[in-house]
Amino acid sequence: MNSKEALQTLLEGNARYQAGECKMMNLPSAREELSRGQAPIAAIIRCADSRVAPEIVFDQPLGNLFVCGVAGNIPTQEIVESIEYTVQHLGTTLVIVMGHSNCVAVTAALQNEFVDGVFAQVALSPIPELDECIAFNAEHGIATILNRSYVLEQKVQQGTLRIVAGVQDIASGEFELVAQTSTE
Ligand SMILES: [Zn+2]
Repeated sequence: MNSKEALQTLLEGNARYQAGECKMMNLPSAREELSRGQAPIAAIIRCADSRVAPEIVFDQPLGNLFVCGVAGNIPTQEIVESIEYTVQHLGTTLVIVMGHSNCVAVTAALQNEFVDGVFAQVALSPIPELDECIAFNAEHGIATILNRSYVLEQKVQQGTLRIVAGVQDIASGEFELVAQTSTE
């Protein structure tokens, strides 16, 4: 599945989630096939926040999403290396940096001057306002991934990988795109 189709699949799943019409049941009958392998259609960098669950928000079954989580959805070196694996070996063509509303990690970064650790890596927008910073930090994640991974940068340039950033609104359930490496 190419990145455009993968993104469309996730946005359609998000529309079902918003409408309360999720259809993914993860039935026992699916497990035998699942045990034989995986081909995730997207890799996702999510915040560790308990209200953010990509499989639910995008209404996707087990096996479809390769999910990495850390406070503030920061593409740390370890996370970028995990994503390189799924892109290189599992055929994943889409990477999503997934921010969310009411993010405690971004709030903490706004209110404190962290000098090291993951909170220090939260990118704050010039406008010191929470929603602005949440969107800015997600978008900044794209640049961080490209800076940290020659492999992923090459695939983006070749047009075989798309990286997008977006924000999940917890109250409405909507996942809104903020930026992407290609709009094709
Ligand atoms: Zn968060």
